[in-house]
Amino acid sequence: PDARKKLVAGNWKMNGLAASAPEFVRIVGAYQGAMKSGVDLMVFPPFTLLTSFATATRGAGVGVGAQDCHAKASGAHTGDVSAEMIADAGGQAVIVGHSERRADHGETDADVCAKAEAARRAGLVAVVCVGETREQREAGDARKVVGGQLAGSLPDNADADHVVVAYEPVWAIGTGLTPTVDEVAEMHGFIRGELSNRFGPDGAAIRVLYGGSVKPDNAKELLAAADVDGALVGGASLKADDFLAIAKAA
Ligand code: PEP
Repeated sequence: PDARKKLVAGNWKMNGLAASAPEFVRIVGAYQGAMKSGVDLMVFPPFTLLTSFATATRGAGVGVGAQDCHAKASGAHTGDVSAEMIADAGGQAVIVGHSERRADHGETDADVCAKAEAARRAGLVAVVCVGETREQREAGDARKVVGGQLAGSLPDNADADHVVVAYEPVWAIGTGLTPTVDEVAEMHGFIRGELSNRFGPDGAAIRVLYGGSVKPDNAKELLAAADVDGALVGGASLKADDFLAIAKAA
């Protein structure tokens, strides 16, 4: 028995121009037509498209969110965007701690935790990303790394209304490589246990997504793995047909 509704989320990364709007509109239309009751759908466009996507989905049920936020609500932080601004632009969620942010911008678990707290303060859901590198997995440290990231990146008041966890092994992102279904189930079971131990029943309800080279042709088996509550999709979320095929497999 699994009361957690599946969530399929698309991370557009640094892709998308105004001309991408029809692609998003197709996603919204298909969702309204077919999937609404079975699966939650979210798209995380770049900041520049957030308002137009939020307008395009108004009332239609597809969530939109941003890919990062600053921990503070406002102030002298040139180039940054706050969780409050994301909410004001029509967003409902924000990805925090994506491995590309951790690698490219040196974000620590403490930074990620502060951003997740900012998300809650602004009324956004935080999609908190964790995942080991290839070296860490080969050294047998995957659980230790992911456990440490969860401990450091999740606020003490995390619950299912405010937090989604995404397990994204770094070596699977954008590479076409994926863990086996057994490896996915094993790590998701571990994460589920960590959440339950720390947050009790609140933790048991937090959704845990798998991310890393999810495609239409592997989505069904990855999404059927034990303790997988959905997917965070990068490259394949840019094409409405691929993204919708993944969502239908959920
Ligand atoms: C991601 O970066 O969140 C991701 C899962 O990317 P991809 O699907 O392209 O591997």
